[in-house]
Amino acid sequence: SDHALTYPSAPDHMDWSLYYPAYLSGSTQPSIVNGPNSDRAQGTPRTAESTKVTIADIGCGFGGLLFALSPQIPDSLVLGLEIRTSVTEYVQEKIKALRLQQADSKAYQNVACLRANTMKFLPNFFHKGQLEKIFLCFPDPHFKARKHKARIVSSTLNSEYAYVMKPGAWVYTITDVKDLHEWMVEHFEKHASFERVREEDLKADKCVELMIRETEEGKKVERNDGEKLVACFRRLEDPPWP
Ligand code: SAM
Repeated sequence: SDHALTYPSAPDHMDWSLYYPAYLSGSTQPSIVNGPNSDRAQGTPRTAESTKVTIADIGCGFGGLLFALSPQIPDSLVLGLEIRTSVTEYVQEKIKALRLQQADSKAYQNVACLRANTMKFLPNFFHKGQLEKIFLCFPDPHFKARKHKARIVSSTLNSEYAYVMKPGAWVYTITDVKDLHEWMVEHFEKHASFERVREEDLKADKCVELMIRETEEGKKVERNDGEKLVACFRRLEDPPWP
């Protein structure tokens, strides 16, 4: 239950160096040891601002997408958030093992997983406008109407996603449940902070392909010859104050 969950009272109180030790030195006000892509930066220290988590996989499960994203977007810090303790620990152990296996490189140093109930504490972890991508892959469908309030897409939660996202950032959704797909499309389309991304833009985005192929649920659906329904939404700029 939630009292067993630990979460920072504000994003600045989070010690990210525990999760990304190769990139951040230990402090609640992260100072930079060596930012992602520091080779390209040729020794120029990156600012704390640029060495922050920018990609979140909400309800990451066993982390298939995290492990696929890590080498594909090495310049970004990727975080999986998962509510189940044992599943979170499994992902954390796997990250540790992969890092050790490739200790002579920075492989998998940009990926981490923590236990969180994202329906309650998302703004405790991220600043306004921080995230560039949020993945909602095969969320629990909560079929019955009285359970719809447990869905991780709703008008209220979409406002929280909008708050932590940068204008232009994308929310990626995928499910094999038609009713849930329609629910997610409806709630994002009617939200003033989002617009749906066009089909042709989806085809040009490598993360869409990874989400379809690399999530554990996606693989399961594939084995069962199921349908995968994809929809992405772009965070719009906030309108100017009147
Ligand atoms: N995204 C993974 C995939 O596609 O393979 C896992 C999908 S699984 C059906 C849904 C996951 O969301 C479960 O691991 C569940 O524990 C997690 N989850 C459900 N509610 C959550 C919440 N409020 N905060 C964080 N994770 C949650």
